[in-house]
Amino acid sequence: MVMYSIKVVKKNKKRKQAIILLIITIILLCLAVFGGIKLAEHTHLAGNNNLINSTGQNDKNQVNNEEPSEGNNQNNENNQLVENNNEKNGQNNVVNNEETPSQNEPSKNANIQKLTNEQINSINNIYKSNTKRVFLTFDDGPSSAVTPDILDVLKNENIKATFFVLGTMVKSNPEILKRERLEGHYIANHGYSHVYKKVYENENKPLEEYKKTNELIQKALNDSSYQSNVFRFPGGSNGGYYDDIKTKAKQILNKNGIAYLDWNALTNDSAGATTEEEMLKNLKSTSKNKNSIVVLMHDAPNKKQTAKTLPKIIKYFRDNGYTFQNLYDIL
Ligand SMILES: [Zn+2]
Repeated sequence: MVMYSIKVVKKNKKRKQAIILLIITIILLCLAVFGGIKLAEHTHLAGNNNLINSTGQNDKNQVNNEEPSEGNNQNNENNQLVENNNEKNGQNNVVNNEETPSQNEPSKNANIQKLTNEQINSINNIYKSNTKRVFLTFDDGPSSAVTPDILDVLKNENIKATFFVLGTMVKSNPEILKRERLEGHYIANHGYSHVYKKVYENENKPLEEYKKTNELIQKALNDSSYQSNVFRFPGGSNGGYYDDIKTKAKQILNKNGIAYLDWNALTNDSAGATTEEEMLKNLKSTSKNKNSIVVLMHDAPNKKQTAKTLPKIIKYFRDNGYTFQNLYDIL
């Protein structure tokens, strides 16, 4: 009897141990799964934050520390033009409430798979022209806060412009990109990250950034054959801390049938000009005595003043006998 009792007790003890073990296992499993999800969420958020913060901060660092002389020698005509790159605050604000444009003719030449040497040369020679012409270019968009306003102005004025879009922004605003195309503007390529350390990590990176952004453009436009074909180096293609890498990267781009384009006039809307007066003053001084003008402006989320000033910019060029072109006109 005693033996039996001991056996029963032992058996119960074993069962108890088994149950406890089972409970512990379940708790551990739950913790592992929950913890995993949390960790994944955290990593995801951290990734996004890094994208936003590092973009802004690194760009500031670049401007302040790593490319102190950039702007003195950053375009084909050696104008003292600075592209500041702190323009993307709020780039993840996704507001796609623009009207969906009705179907329209896709822009001509959009499906040239690679530029010929001749076409690359016409981009390289863009500053030479017998007639007075101006190319309005907008970098760092599309943004829901500014780009639609710019498109409205261009539509009213019947002007076709060129947009150097950023991959990160294309992802957030595909509908605006579609509108740009449907309204006949040229969608060119400004790379993906705009973070100098990434874009200029080595000479192959600009091409990689170009390709990544080109794929995002294709996806947004729902056209797998669209080629942006023209790249604008963040900060300009010449000078600064990464000049050697840029020089090699330019050759790599050209070998792949991709042209690159800087600018020879600007409003300085990214580096200090916040009023209409300042923007017009900068525009007039940088475009003075030039026959063929490529104007650098920005349609990043915090560039509302650029959209507001645009009608006066257009009027200034009209009054001075310029015609407006975009890159389709020379390719
Ligand atoms: Zn830019």
